[in-house]
Order: sequence, then C-alpha cells, then structure tokens
Amino acid sequence: MACPFFVPSRRLENAGWIRPPRLPLGDPFAGACHAQPADIVEPPEAQQRELCNCGYARTRCDRFPGGSAPDAVRFSVTDDAPARLLVVYVVEKDHAPVAHGTLEYSISDASLDGPHLSDVLLRQARAFLDSYLHRRSRSASV
Ligand code: SF4
Repeated sequence: MACPFFVPSRRLENAGWIRPPRLPLGDPFAGACHAQPADIVEPPEAQQRELCNCGYARTRCDRFPGGSAPDAVRFSVTDDAPARLLVVYVVEKDHAPVAHGTLEYSISDASLDGPHLSDVLLRQARAFLDSYLHRRSRSASV
C-alpha cells in the first residue's frame, strides 16, 4: 500500500535483489511527497522505499499530515482481458477501507475510466498498471 500523498514518477533501480520484492505499486518507484501542497519535495531514497512506497507512515514520517488523513492506498487487478484491465483501488485508514472503486484501463489507448480520482491516486494507478503490464509482458516472453 502506497502512502496516499506519494506521486510516483519513475522506477527505482532494483539493484541488489536477484528477485525484486513485490511492492504495493508493483515495482519500487521514486517520486514526490504532496502531503504539503505548498512544499512538494522528493524525500531521500531510503524514505521513499520504506515509507512512501509502503504507506502507514503516520507515526514514522514528519511530513504526514495526521488527523483524518488516510494511511494507504492499495490496487489490484480483478480482471485481465486482452483488450482491457479492471483495477480495484482501496483507500485505507487504520486498516479499514474508507473509499474504493473500480477503474477500467484500455490496452489500445491507455485510457483510464472510472470515478473521479485525485491526481495523486491517478498517478499511483498508472504506476501500478505500468508495473503490472511490465511483469505480464516479461512472463509472457519466458
Ligand atoms: S511517507 Fe511521508 S514523505 Fe512519503 S509521501 Fe507519505 S507523507 Fe510524504
């Protein structure tokens, strides 16, 4: 589950792992923290790997806004057809869902349809899909 305030922008290298771990967004991503919109920063890489990519940073990250802010977002593919993917997202707080929905991704034009999402969640959904399709094409070629 990624932190709800993390905007992924590019893959992080998986150096050091023979088989990279499966993370909430699929692969590890580098990106920026949008928890404080007037002060968007790219946290140190170790923090991105341990907190931004994994969520539940409320007591471990001094940028986390606290209060009623959700703790994490998770994505999963629920239907994988040749022309499109269905992706469920769940926003969590205290390990309970506070919002959820289904997105439909078109393979032909990379469009993403579904409920209106914040830019942060859309960017996370696209990072997750990028990882998923990358892994799918790799396993199909083996
Ligand atoms: S873990 Fe902290 S630094 Fe990373 S995105 Fe969340 S609030 Fe920002």
